[in-house]
Amino acid sequence: MQEAIFKSSVLVEALPYMQRFKGKYIVVKFGGSVLTQEYHLRNVLQDLVFMAQAGMRPVLVHGGGPLITQAMKKCGKEPVFLNGQRITDEETLEIAKDVLIGDVAARIVSIVAGFGAKAESVNAAGAISAKKYLPNGDDLGFVGQVSSVDVGLFDRLAEEGIISIVSPLGLDESGQLYNINGDVAAWKIAAELKAEKLVFLSNTRGILRNIDDDQSLISTIRQDRIEQYVESGVISGGMIPKIEAANSALTHGVHKTHIVDGRLRHALLVEIFSKEGIGTQIIPSDEPEGATTTATRELYDQYVIGNYTRQPMVIVRGKGSRVWDADNKGYLDLFPGWAVSGIGYCHDKVVAALKSQSEKLLHASNNFHLQAQGELARLIAEHAFGGKSFFCNSGAEANEAALKLARLFHGGKRKRIITTKNSFHGRTFGSVSATGQPDYQKGFQPIVPGFEYVAFNDKAALEAAMADDVYAVMLEPIQGEGGINMADDDYMCLIRSLCDKHGSLMIVDEVQTCMGRSGKLFAYQNYDVVPDIMTLAKSLGGGVAIGVMTARADIAAAMGPGTHGSTFGGNPLACRAGIAVFDAIREEKMMDNVEVVGAYLWQRLNEMKNKFPIIKGLRGRALMVGIELNKPGQDIVATCLARGLIINCTQGSVLRLLPAINISVEELEEGLTILSGILEEDV
Ligand code: PLP
Repeated sequence: MQEAIFKSSVLVEALPYMQRFKGKYIVVKFGGSVLTQEYHLRNVLQDLVFMAQAGMRPVLVHGGGPLITQAMKKCGKEPVFLNGQRITDEETLEIAKDVLIGDVAARIVSIVAGFGAKAESVNAAGAISAKKYLPNGDDLGFVGQVSSVDVGLFDRLAEEGIISIVSPLGLDESGQLYNINGDVAAWKIAAELKAEKLVFLSNTRGILRNIDDDQSLISTIRQDRIEQYVESGVISGGMIPKIEAANSALTHGVHKTHIVDGRLRHALLVEIFSKEGIGTQIIPSDEPEGATTTATRELYDQYVIGNYTRQPMVIVRGKGSRVWDADNKGYLDLFPGWAVSGIGYCHDKVVAALKSQSEKLLHASNNFHLQAQGELARLIAEHAFGGKSFFCNSGAEANEAALKLARLFHGGKRKRIITTKNSFHGRTFGSVSATGQPDYQKGFQPIVPGFEYVAFNDKAALEAAMADDVYAVMLEPIQGEGGINMADDDYMCLIRSLCDKHGSLMIVDEVQTCMGRSGKLFAYQNYDVVPDIMTLAKSLGGGVAIGVMTARADIAAAMGPGTHGSTFGGNPLACRAGIAVFDAIREEKMMDNVEVVGAYLWQRLNEMKNKFPIIKGLRGRALMVGIELNKPGQDIVATCLARGLIINCTQGSVLRLLPAINISVEELEEGLTILSGILEEDV
């Protein structure tokens, strides 16, 4: 059973590649160990047959140097080499022809026939034209180089599903035969056929960082790094001609080249049809090194701190509610960037604003006035409760600013602050101290003093904790990380009235709830209260780092020159992105969309809840949803991911959806169909 599941998952992974490479040439070069071991040869040919039958156009260029040497010795002729090239006199050429075409190509054709497929040796048909090769003026006899390739012939054979078998020999205009270096022949043929791939099967795993360590495989090398690897000795000996051939092939338009261990069963298929591959791929210089999954993961292993649990994919682009990984697999994202891409990935207006601003001014210090910062502050004031804003770069920083302002407002005299259990306010010392979840504080004691945590929505606990020495009460109107817990109406009103009574400040952390997802632009607007301070981040920047702390003007006045600051905070680029987000929400009537799509979402969620007992409860508002399960939810998140849907799980068993506020009903339904299919299987 396990084996069957494994095989089918391999097939599922291979399918998109098979579709992508259909009708494309894949040139494979092998010699040495593959040719001399019948078992390896049959394996490789079986893979080629598979490719041909799946609609690709495999072309095989074979070597045979050691076999030629063997045959020469049998005839009592000693082989002579100059700089690694065989000096080829007439007799040697005859022997080479007999071995390459007579023996090797003929054997390959017959093995392929045994697999029920067709292969043809193309040399006799004049597929390769050659001319004499004189490296540095040295005369090597009948050694040639490819001058042209009969692409039409390859096309005709490929159209009939016939695998072309090329021996590294070519004819000049007068009909003279030449012996050609197999690696060079392979890249020239690949280039002329505009091949998708050129694969060298060798007898090592690929290119190893340390030749003695099989585990030190370099899975991706960018073309412009080849020289460096050769100079440092990582690429040496017999690997050099292969890498040079790979380099030339890339320069002449071949999309990717690979060096793979031909002794491994199905190495060819695994390398070509899986994300990970098993050998070394050499990619063009203009392709970002991180564009392939394995290369990026290797960079992470070596250079990036492991403080996150990471999915294996490398995300390379996004648009609207969709993202794509380095292997071009698309995902529908109902949790776009932890709510950062709240109006979708790369919204046109945000991108245009960034482009335009980036040509004028990226950053200037906060010791000057910046137009975009002023304009964004005004937009926030107009849409919230007036007041003034301080700009920073993240949610945690915005909360830090709020905590500091609240202390300043009370002249530093008040020392107690109340936050709620299960809250999440960030990872800096102040914000993690505000966070009412001990797990986040583990290892960081002593935390900032003065924080007390009351149960969320517990009015009595709040009342008991409040006093005149409390400088603030801070909460998320809807707890995000805490499991999508909504503050009750009367709880919010009680906070407001107790803060008024004791002169404490009411701080709402709208880092996750802001910019429309709760059905109002800011979640506090769902309640009959106005806070004193509000913090924003995530969706506000449309994908660009931004944090804002906005406060009633008289409170904000406590933050005088020198009391707080941020070098990058409020830079024109981030503020232009924020302004574009406001504009997009208004112009594209996204709040109306939240209403329509939100209603649809909740109707569908309720149907799902009635149908699937695994759903214990539903929580949230509009496009901020928690689906509480009666079991841990991580497996469901993983299955969703495998089926192209991104969601999240928090608190162990609460599936969290924070779709972009401009998502369409159709997109949402696509995601819900995947999710409900998985929940159904789980029943
Ligand atoms: N506050 C809330 C409610 C959050 O959800 C988060 C992040 O998830 C933060 C603060 C911290 O924001 P950042 O990660 O930008 O520092």
